[in-house]
Amino acid sequence: MSRDAAHASDGPPALLTTSVSAGYGAAGNAVTDLSLRVPQGEVVSLLGPNGAGKTTVMRAVSGLLGLHRGRLTGGRVELFGKDMTGARASQRVRAGLAQCLEGRMVFPGLTVAENLATGGHVRRYRGGAFTAARDEVLTLLPRLGDLLDRKAGYLSGGEQQMLAIARALMSRPRLLLMDEPSLGLAPRIVEQVRDIIVSINEHGTSILLVEQNARMALSISSYAYLLEGGRVYAEGTPAALEQDNDIAAAYLGAGTGTEPVVPRGADS
Ligand code: ATP
Repeated sequence: MSRDAAHASDGPPALLTTSVSAGYGAAGNAVTDLSLRVPQGEVVSLLGPNGAGKTTVMRAVSGLLGLHRGRLTGGRVELFGKDMTGARASQRVRAGLAQCLEGRMVFPGLTVAENLATGGHVRRYRGGAFTAARDEVLTLLPRLGDLLDRKAGYLSGGEQQMLAIARALMSRPRLLLMDEPSLGLAPRIVEQVRDIIVSINEHGTSILLVEQNARMALSISSYAYLLEGGRVYAEGTPAALEQDNDIAAAYLGAGTGTEPVVPRGADS
């Protein structure tokens, strides 16, 4: 079965931003007129160099701009067809959104099990629902099952990244925002993170993936946006972007290896 046939849904997109602009006070807009779409069941990448505005887009979607003294200055954000432009972050979580923040952001003094519990908190699980959610997450990230009693601060960088992903999954999101999950990880661990993203998506979660590792991101995405100076510079399928020599030269140099970008499923 083709990737499209296996994943595509006729419903509204998981995420739709229309002409979104956002910034931080007097500095002006960090993101301008950004329209992007994550269809349900897809992995879509948001790529670009340092300072391009990728994290600002994530904050605009999650409703966390205010926490960073930023604000939306224009445009509209929809989750699963519902207008969420002015909604609080907690309302967006209830609509099915979860975010896995850049820099792993686990609680170092808490155990793995306790970190997972904080991820389930928003759902207010009762009875066996918490255990069921945790078991489901641990089937996707089985390595964490052996580390439940270990303090998160003692985990390796790769294990902390797995934990950050697992914690975000505890709310059983329908749309997961992932901010640079490969950052600072060894190539072998980046491969593991990539495989985990693929399995999360195969279990039905739509994903907006922010990455500087364009090769890794494109290899598992159905579509990508390239951000430069807060604006969309180019967008398209991985195959189309790779065929553009200027884009390939400017954006596709970074990666775990020198292998060509091959979208998942292209060889099947
Ligand atoms: P990186 O890949 O380095 O994380 P990015 O593409 O995620 O970068 P953003 O973090 O969104 O980019 O930053 C976009 C612009 O907004 C930058 O010029 C940055 O300095 C600025 N910016 C980000 N956060 C704030 C803030 N809290 N206050 C003021 N300016 C900010």
